[in-house]
Amino acid sequence: MTRNKKGLNTICAHTGEVKDEQFKGAVSPLYMSTSYAFEDVDIKRYPRYFNTPNQESLSKKIAALEHTEAGLIFGSGMAAISTSLLAFLEAGDHIVLQQTLYGGTYNLITEEFHKYGIEYSFTEGWAADDFEAKVQENTKVIYIETPSNPLLTITDLDAVAKLSKKHGLVSMIDNTFASPVNQNPVDFGIDVVIHSATKYMGGHSDICAGAVASTKENIKRIHSLAKNFGGSLSDYTVWLLERSMKTMGIRVRAQNENAQRMAEFLDGHDDIAAVYYPGLPDHPGHETAKTQMAGFGGMLSFELLEGLDASRFQKSLQLIKPSMSLAGVESTVLSPSQTSHALLGAEERERQGIKDGLIRFSVGIEEPEDLIADIEQALEKVKSVVGTV
Ligand SMILES: *Cc1c(COP(=O)(O)O)cnc(C)c1O
Repeated sequence: MTRNKKGLNTICAHTGEVKDEQFKGAVSPLYMSTSYAFEDVDIKRYPRYFNTPNQESLSKKIAALEHTEAGLIFGSGMAAISTSLLAFLEAGDHIVLQQTLYGGTYNLITEEFHKYGIEYSFTEGWAADDFEAKVQENTKVIYIETPSNPLLTITDLDAVAKLSKKHGLVSMIDNTFASPVNQNPVDFGIDVVIHSATKYMGGHSDICAGAVASTKENIKRIHSLAKNFGGSLSDYTVWLLERSMKTMGIRVRAQNENAQRMAEFLDGHDDIAAVYYPGLPDHPGHETAKTQMAGFGGMLSFELLEGLDASRFQKSLQLIKPSMSLAGVESTVLSPSQTSHALLGAEERERQGIKDGLIRFSVGIEEPEDLIADIEQALEKVKSVVGTV
């Protein structure tokens, strides 16, 4: 019997490999050339054209993972996001975006889009209706993030895809938090899927890259702008990313499991005021998440009880490191009010539900017992200080 579609870990380990015809080595050879013989007008190979052997092969892996016809690898997540957005928007157009976006994307929109004459609106909430409420005559794109950063809100992919089709819009998602292991948005009708490959695809906190997956037609459109903007990824990093992605399925599934354990532990803890994780049954997005996610992901957030100092808590952790980034095999925490969402200001943070005691937790692959012990000892230290004042 032949299987047409490969399973996740088989795709991770094999799809898109560059065959080593010369020596029959087990892994893709690395082609560092920036100069290739001219073969025909359609295949002028050059790193900034996104078509070296390693770039092309990794693009195939991305496409297979996201169930799309085509993919493209970029030099960063922001290169993938900015190029994809500007490929579908021009002067006079309008885009509807989710509130509480990834900070870099928020800055791109609010600092740069006026220069291109592109209008934008942010939603008031995360439901499909909140997006539809902001659609106007010149709207061209709807842009979502689910699960969102940092409160892990869930938006219904199917509903957003339907309303986009109804209004003739292109729907785009930043799928970084879920990773292709847990969520394949095109299966629900979303048009363009974007990743910061710096996160779960790289997974070891040592690669900066981005990726886009969509139809051949959409990727062609993004590609023609990408060549002009020049945000391609160096072949050496492409090669490293391919190596990292071989274990993505295994890593992310382990992170799903660990995050569920951590969420349940924190949820039952006396010193924790709230836990935000779509895998908890009382999370408002739990039912929707169950219909569109294969796993609930490795990201969660929690609030310390009022009076417990979040920055002291972070400093007291010994195993879990405070870090600006996320999704590595090592567990990290971040205080959104002091870092990623500091620029929003206290009032806007309050409106978005981001409290000062909120901690974003990127759960790694460590043994859960060790993570729990680390959190327990840090909480004890924070409480002992409270007791002495
Ligand atoms: C990190 C991140 C980005 C940006 O990716 P870079 O690789 O840093 O450019 C975009 N979206 C989300 C959700 C991210 O976490």
